[in-house]
Amino acid sequence: MELERYIRDIPDFPKKGIMFKDITPLLKDARAFETAIEMLAAKYKDAKIDKIASMESRGFILGAALSMKLRCGFIPIRKKGKLPYETIREEYALEYGTDLLEMHKDALEKGENILIVDDVLATGGTANAVCRLIEKLGGNIAALCFLIELSSLNPRKKLEGYPIESLIIY
Ligand code: AMP
Repeated sequence: MELERYIRDIPDFPKKGIMFKDITPLLKDARAFETAIEMLAAKYKDAKIDKIASMESRGFILGAALSMKLRCGFIPIRKKGKLPYETIREEYALEYGTDLLEMHKDALEKGENILIVDDVLATGGTANAVCRLIEKLGGNIAALCFLIELSSLNPRKKLEGYPIESLIIY
């Protein structure tokens, strides 16, 4: 199945100059959504993943579905001020300025194998901050995976040394 057919390009969203990769056509098609999750699950079924960590909000959709398939736990990573319990935080760069990502300080145990999952890998700044959060608590980053990778933005440069898989590369 050609998953690219289910990705819709929205020019100038959320602001001018950004080509937004809209995954809702894929999500609303039961077979396409299932195929994407099955393809990711096949890559990690023998990787002994303890937990999946995903960043809000579209990452949650894919990460939670994949955690059911891999029968592992799920860790939500959120923007500042959203998580109710005690958190650790990491700053990451935005186009203008910086923002904070947070994770509960008891989200994982030292040495656990963590798979990071998100919808789009663009500059790699968000994924890099998630790696730092996981490693702060002693987690082992088994791999990172994405539905879509925007290779022209060179995101792998920010994630050197980590195994990365993307289903669709533009
Ligand atoms: P980055 O930190 O630049 O790799 O951006 C990754 C985050 O921003 C992901 O959580 C994506 O959901 C979102 N994102 C960045 N660029 C796009 C895009 N062109 N289309 C859709 N989502 C994007």
